[in-house]
Amino acid sequence: MMEADTKQILKQALSRRTIAVISHPDAGKSTLSEALLLHSNAITEAGAIHGKAGRRGTVSDWMEMEKARGISVSSAVLQFTVGDAIVNLVDTPGHADFSEDTFRVLAAVDAVIMLIDAAKGMETQTMKLFEVCKARGLPVITVINKWDRPGQDALELVDEILTRTGMRSMPRNWPVGDSGHMLGLLNPEAMTMNRYTRAPGGAKKVLAEKLSAETAEAEYPLEFQTAVEESSLLELEDQFYDRDAFLAQEATPLFFASAVQNIGVEELLHFIMEQGPPPQARPDAEGTPYELTSDFSGYVFKVQTGMDKAHRDRIAFMRICSGVFERGMVATHAQSGKPFPTKYSQQVFGRDRTTVDTAWPGDVVGLVNASTLRPGDTLHAGQSVLFPPFKPFAPEHFRVGKTGDASKHKQFRKGIEQLDREGVIQVFYSERRGQQRPVLGAVGPMQFEVVSARMESDFGAAVSFDALDYSVARDIDDEAAAILSERQDCEVLYRNDGTPVALFRDPWRLRTVQRDHPHLLPDPPGSAT
Ligand code: GDP
Repeated sequence: MMEADTKQILKQALSRRTIAVISHPDAGKSTLSEALLLHSNAITEAGAIHGKAGRRGTVSDWMEMEKARGISVSSAVLQFTVGDAIVNLVDTPGHADFSEDTFRVLAAVDAVIMLIDAAKGMETQTMKLFEVCKARGLPVITVINKWDRPGQDALELVDEILTRTGMRSMPRNWPVGDSGHMLGLLNPEAMTMNRYTRAPGGAKKVLAEKLSAETAEAEYPLEFQTAVEESSLLELEDQFYDRDAFLAQEATPLFFASAVQNIGVEELLHFIMEQGPPPQARPDAEGTPYELTSDFSGYVFKVQTGMDKAHRDRIAFMRICSGVFERGMVATHAQSGKPFPTKYSQQVFGRDRTTVDTAWPGDVVGLVNASTLRPGDTLHAGQSVLFPPFKPFAPEHFRVGKTGDASKHKQFRKGIEQLDREGVIQVFYSERRGQQRPVLGAVGPMQFEVVSARMESDFGAAVSFDALDYSVARDIDDEAAAILSERQDCEVLYRNDGTPVALFRDPWRLRTVQRDHPHLLPDPPGSAT
């Protein structure tokens, strides 16, 4: 690569921030994503409130089902500029049933914004996500949202984060006024206070009015003093800001906000630009970092079909890991070794798409009609590289899928295979059940609804399900498959790639089988993450 190109790649990479907003459902992800866009001027009016008459849904929500349920099923990628910098905001599904998608998205970003509902504190999904971020080495920015509503005490929330995650909080702002009585936000470094003029419903951009300490103290003697005391209490405990601690995940920068009123959002955006990590060399399958300035490489983290009736096609979302991506270049699909033309690459912004001609490390490109690509695949040009694939989650819900209409068998097969490839659902077959009776495995039951909707709308093959009484799955080898298929207390099925899988009704039955054949079913290291 020419030296000029190398410089350009590094410059472009340095100006990028690729992040995801994650949380327990309902903490305000979609609302915050809208608010971030609003502040970047990418859109002029937020439509963040689901279900409100006369307003469109958030730009990142697009499937019919999402609208009906008010949840995000699919992951949208929003790119916007802030000054000279570029933010790639990768949205994640709102419902815990789609947590596998969320974990895949985490493989495509460099940092996350973790939202916590001020009233609810740490919830089940919050904890799981903190753990996965830790495992992935992802720096976490924590935002305590909904401060406009009555909630927990600020110091108690900080304590809860520390005891449950082991991470110190480094407050970048501090609320003036208790939750539910938000007067503004203290900037603990400058000792100034931001006061906000609220637009009704928070639809318009809100700008802060900066008050000096003297003015703030005169106007809000009690609340301002309390905020100063509380935030300095944390500094006494060594919770002052340290970027290295943030990047090393020892500490988390903390913001208080009200996403729906756009309060605290501007500070958050500035922080992302100034302190957020830019793209880094990504470790390949052997663990060796693949330099940003290497030839082009990209990682497919999400495949999606039928996002919009006007564009009923398949998009593979790829994060650029190194080099320059140029539309029209012929890349190599590392898994098959086959050439992959990139003529139809696009940027997807909610429902809108634009053609992308050049993309840099950190960017996310949608590859249209990429029927051969699966989540976890690598594309590269020139020098060959392979990034580690996704480990499938262990499914916990199982149903037999079938179509009642014998004339639709072909569409049925094709549809199920396609949804398997996209990672919408895991599909298992056995000779005994036959090809027309695949067993579908999901992490959350709502995935079956997506299968149902997609099979009907995209493949014209209505599907019905028979529930199966299994809750545990284990990948096994051929030796184990031969032995376990003789037993009555488990069932052996096969993935599309031929990997045998054993299904058990419950963990106790798994343990019984483990006792009989300890070497066949060792416990996997760590959890599914
Ligand atoms: P998601 O499921 O995490 O994407 O959450 P949403 O963005 O859909 O928000 C869930 C609900 O919380 C919606 O009714 C929002 O209007 C509301 N909400 C989001 N942010 C705030 C906030 O800062 N304050 C209040 N009071 N409500 C909020």
